[in-house]
Amino acid sequence: MPEKVKLAYLLAGGCAGCDMAVVDLSETLLDVLPQLEIVFWAPTVADVKYKDLEAMPDGSIDVGLVAGMVRLSEQEHMVKVMRRKCKTLIALGICASMGGIPGMANMHSKKEIFDTAYFDTFSTDNPEGVVPRTNCLVDGKYELTLPDFYEKVRSVASVVDVDYLTGGCPPHHSFIGAALTAVLEGKLPPRGSWLTGGKAVCDVCKRNPALQGKERELIQDIKRVTDGEPEQDKCLLQEGYICLGPVTQGDCNAQCPNVNMPCRGCGGPIPGVKDFGLRAVSAIAASMTDEKLVDKIDCPAKLFYRYSLPSSILGGKLK
Ligand code: SF4
Ligand code: SF4
Ligand code: SF4
Repeated sequence: MPEKVKLAYLLAGGCAGCDMAVVDLSETLLDVLPQLEIVFWAPTVADVKYKDLEAMPDGSIDVGLVAGMVRLSEQEHMVKVMRRKCKTLIALGICASMGGIPGMANMHSKKEIFDTAYFDTFSTDNPEGVVPRTNCLVDGKYELTLPDFYEKVRSVASVVDVDYLTGGCPPHHSFIGAALTAVLEGKLPPRGSWLTGGKAVCDVCKRNPALQGKERELIQDIKRVTDGEPEQDKCLLQEGYICLGPVTQGDCNAQCPNVNMPCRGCGGPIPGVKDFGLRAVSAIAASMTDEKLVDKIDCPAKLFYRYSLPSSILGGKLK
């Protein structure tokens, strides 16, 4: 029997949705499990300790998957340990690849976040003004430590060199299956690549006018998803809903437009794009009849950089 592929999985700072997507592979996962030896899966699935991973020889794990972003010193440490232990490291999901939804916090300073979490909200009762500290002494004798909360969110890919990037929040389970199969069969693209079919969401969207033999019309108005139900089979962007399908990788098979929701860009940028938000602004602006329509877009920074702010040219709010 051929040697099994040693696999490790780490969730850094994320919601565990990526873990659920792996579990969603269901029968496909059962098909590949005989070829895998899962040596570490923390913290969601197995009762393993960080020191278990730290004790493994460097380079002893064939493939590592890391989901989530890096906000805490503990996450940074473990991501670096994974890099040392794994021959091939894959950033799983858009948090790991570009910072993801948690990266929108980069529009706020650490102080603003702490003020909101520990002082300002209506339900907060904190008369002594207690905030988390990296070290404290309890009862004068027990020293407790907490990880450092960094000023900004970073993607895993900006903390260590990853070998492959994947999009999705979470990645569609069929896509994870295809990525795992590519790993097992050794059919991977050059290191540093995105694992993607390379098509945009528009390319696989049944609402695409081009796929219906029609001309694409310019946007006449800006609408929100709460403004009513969009017309079936009509391009959402054409109807005025800001859909980022033209600039987003379509490995999800356009699952949001399929259920009347505009694509928000979780798949990551189509090949060749350096700054997702900038390309999205450019694509949407080029589709408008009137530049004044831009004023009707709510919070454009968080719309266009919803999943990629930490990896953008700006990285976040500067002041
Ligand atoms: S990419 Fe999405 S599903 Fe995965 S950890 Fe981040 S927020 Fe959760
Ligand atoms: S813009 Fe959105 S709705 Fe229109 S074709 Fe592209 S993915 Fe589909
Ligand atoms: S349509 Fe866009 S936002 Fe929705 S899952 Fe696909 S890539 Fe993500």
